[in-house]
Amino acid sequence: MIGLIGIAIIILIVIFAIFYGYGLILKQERSQNPYSAQLKCTLCGRTFDKGKLVERAIGIEKIYYFCGECIQSLHEDYLNLNSKQN
Ligand SMILES: [Zn+2]
Repeated sequence: MIGLIGIAIIILIVIFAIFYGYGLILKQERSQNPYSAQLKCTLCGRTFDKGKLVERAIGIEKIYYFCGECIQSLHEDYLNLNSKQN
């Protein structure tokens, strides 16, 4: 009898843990809404809405974000680089 009750309690705990974990995953997905997420620019470190940053995946896991101003200055640096070489 005690063994059966013990097993039943363990099964209930496992089921509860699965639902609780599933709820946490759903909550995380909601908080990672692409329109409300605030992310830092990799270069200048300022915070922007995710929609205003250009995303680049480097390697498998690393994702970098770049703001418009940094991209502009990179572009200018690149143009200067080319004009120096010519
Ligand atoms: Zn930046």
